[in-house]
Amino acid sequence: MSPKTRVVGLLGGGQLGRMLCESGAPLDAQIAVLDAENCPAKQINNNRHHVTGSFKDPVKIKELAANCDILTVEIEHIETEVLEEIDTNGVQVRNADGTTTNKKVAIHPSWRTLRLVQNKYEQKEYLKNQGIPIAEQMAIESGDAMLASMGEASEKFGFPWMLKARKDSYDGRGNFKISNKKDLEQAVKEFGNLSCYAEKWVPFELELAVMVIRTEDDSGKMKRVVPYPVVETVHEDNICSKVFMPPRNVSENVCKKAQKVATSVVEKLWGRGVFAVEMFLTKEGDIIFNECAPRPHNSGHASIESVPYMSQFKAQLTAILDEPLPEVLEPHVSSSIMINILGGADPDSHLPLVEKAKSMYGSRTAVYVHLYGKESKPSRKIGHITVTGFGSITDLEAFAQPLLKMVDAIRQ
Ligand code: ATP
Ligand code: MG
Ligand code: MG
Repeated sequence: MSPKTRVVGLLGGGQLGRMLCESGAPLDAQIAVLDAENCPAKQINNNRHHVTGSFKDPVKIKELAANCDILTVEIEHIETEVLEEIDTNGVQVRNADGTTTNKKVAIHPSWRTLRLVQNKYEQKEYLKNQGIPIAEQMAIESGDAMLASMGEASEKFGFPWMLKARKDSYDGRGNFKISNKKDLEQAVKEFGNLSCYAEKWVPFELELAVMVIRTEDDSGKMKRVVPYPVVETVHEDNICSKVFMPPRNVSENVCKKAQKVATSVVEKLWGRGVFAVEMFLTKEGDIIFNECAPRPHNSGHASIESVPYMSQFKAQLTAILDEPLPEVLEPHVSSSIMINILGGADPDSHLPLVEKAKSMYGSRTAVYVHLYGKESKPSRKIGHITVTGFGSITDLEAFAQPLLKMVDAIRQ
């Protein structure tokens, strides 16, 4: 490590943090992680700057900040009050002689972005007012008024519609599809204590996502937004299961439109880093924004192999450290499929899938297995497989068929 190497503090050390560490290792980027002792990121990255504890604990966040030059996140559900305080006042560090000094620590993406996107309703209201197309939404009262408020949503949107928790949701865990009147009572039971909103059902053809790199100068003025190629994301049981590049049966024009919406979204946010933009594509060819995650994302995993010179993880480091970025992100392969490995009914359910993936060699195709060092639990993301090729996405899908079948079998 050269004395000039900056230390990046990372809030959260799951699989995204682990892959960030993998991409940082050849670059001599020091990554200090705040999470449990044996979290996936720390398993592969040993250094004296790590902090053991919860990335939700403000005291620990300050401790991590004192160890590093710049703070970033692998998860958006982080206490932003403390990040704002660090950004405004810096952080106290203890010197060898016992005195303390105040150190400036940059935070990327900005705590403003994190605060906004943490509340999915506010996130979409803000972006709607900036001209981004969203599905109609409506605030839902909590407590005793919830049932009546949901009745109004049913009148307004018709069945089905989606009840969503405003905060802390992931993998669809904060979503409840309201298909009829009976569902309303169940929804009160399950979501009654949460702050919620209603969203019009989108009968989408498919879902698209675009990762976007964003940079800005030290005064907060945006410098660049660079989009990755569009991907098609497939969700099963509300969890992303597969990602296809390019999207299947989607025209170039629609892909360009999706990239345009995604870059417009990211232009309206704050800070440096990579941002995932999830969208719906309707039958009519319209793009509707779903949500944005200001961090590396499941929909960008295949970039490790498909854009090897600037994976989404390398891009996160490159952007926050304000180092040179390419003008455009052109893949080195013509198609890719990312398949999530989710834990099955028993801890070994996924092993035959992994063995099969390791044994597959085709002509001008490649199969890459990523395991995250996590204990297997039903529906938990414990790894992923990326398949790349130089032919069409249809040909690649045919080649990947045995894996796609096995992964479906694990889910059942
Ligand atoms: P993530 O893990 O991506 O953060 P999340 O818990 O924030 O997920 P959403 O992205 O809101 O949840 O929704 C999860 C999935 O549910 C979507 O990808 C989509 O398949 C489906 N979905 C969400 N909203 C709607 C809607 N309004 N109409 C139809 N389907 C929807
Ligand atoms: Mg989400
Ligand atoms: Mg989502």
